[in-house]
Amino acid sequence: MSSALQRLLNPRPNAIGVEIGTSAIKVVVLKAGSPPVLQHAVTTPTPIGSMRDGLVVEPQAVATELKNLLAQHRITTRQAVTAVPNQSAVTRNIMVPRMERKELQDAIKWEAERYIPYPIDEVALDFDLLDDPANIPEDGQMEVVIAAAPSEAVARVVEVLQLAGLDPVVIDLKSFAVLRALRGNLLGEHLTKSTLTGSNYTEAGEVALVLEIGASSSVISLVRGDRVLMARNIGVAADDFTTALQKAFDLDFSAAEEIKVGYATATTPTEDEEDLLNFDLSREQYSPARVFEVIRPVLGDLITEIRRSLEFYRVQSGDVVIDRTFLAGGGAKMRGLAAAISDALGFRVEVASPWLTVQTDLSGMDTGYLQANAPEFTVPLGLALRGVQSRG
Ligand code: ATP
Ligand code: MG
Repeated sequence: MSSALQRLLNPRPNAIGVEIGTSAIKVVVLKAGSPPVLQHAVTTPTPIGSMRDGLVVEPQAVATELKNLLAQHRITTRQAVTAVPNQSAVTRNIMVPRMERKELQDAIKWEAERYIPYPIDEVALDFDLLDDPANIPEDGQMEVVIAAAPSEAVARVVEVLQLAGLDPVVIDLKSFAVLRALRGNLLGEHLTKSTLTGSNYTEAGEVALVLEIGASSSVISLVRGDRVLMARNIGVAADDFTTALQKAFDLDFSAAEEIKVGYATATTPTEDEEDLLNFDLSREQYSPARVFEVIRPVLGDLITEIRRSLEFYRVQSGDVVIDRTFLAGGGAKMRGLAAAISDALGFRVEVASPWLTVQTDLSGMDTGYLQANAPEFTVPLGLALRGVQSRG
């Protein structure tokens, strides 16, 4: 069979989404469709000690784990979309003189240079137009979002994927992937809008704050519809809660992690929660009340960082009213976190629902598993969505 015919009969497989996270490697596979259909959402712990500051330092160990994960779930697609760690990524909205996309392609390096904290010849740079040049006067300015990462950080993720036998076709930013994955929440773009119980999606013109809390990195984004107003790294992430517990109780990291996932609440634990968490009396030192006292300062730092980011935006771009706040990333699973942020900032806060963006009903997957792990699949889902969209 000629290869052209083969392609016709077997449409080119979509690229899968792969996130190499500090805590877990995650893979999402979609089948093209409207909306795309979820086929796999799988994860495995990242080998201990193989990452530092979001960067892979043991590429072979990580690649082997990824390869095993793919084999275990019989995922055979080789093309993959992945992302650089947040710690290496920079995005900024900038104003440039009105020009066509093609012209900007040549000029972007010079336009972006003063906004990028790395030598411009050592970065991978990309951009997207936020305004249509056709709507801007001849001598006007237009808004562009730029994304940059050190070439070295890009090379590292490419290396890991290649070692795992994958072909990295797009290297994205996690912050963009999050917004793509949350289109269901942000734009109400999903199959079964009418079945939504509440109004867990934004209305036209509303501004949403999206906070993705990973193990070692967090990103805060402001969006109106599909327009990014700001995306910024935040220096507090889910591992910081673990580290605080580790120090306070003199534990190793994984024991502290267990205490966090088992007993941590982000609001003063109620009596019911004390009972619900059912802590072992022999381990009274880890009661939810004590755990809460230990993690409280980290929570305070997180809230300060959110306030600071909003202040930064307001100074640069003017006042903004936040209509909705969505949490994503594994860190969003901490009990009471949405309520704690809501109490502190006075916004309505909820954990996002990335699965609204795709069809899951045909997948035959365990919906309990999908619901329980929705926050940490936000980034890999967004990467997989890019893989479906960029299909040639
Ligand atoms: P990064 O993108 O920062 O490199 P990652 O993608 O590996 O990290 P995620 O998988 O999004 O991180 O989230 C993992 C984090 O979420 C871990 O710190 C983990 O402890 C935390 N987490 C998961 N479940 C819970 C829970 N129930 N309560 C509190 N924290 C949790
Ligand atoms: Mg992550």
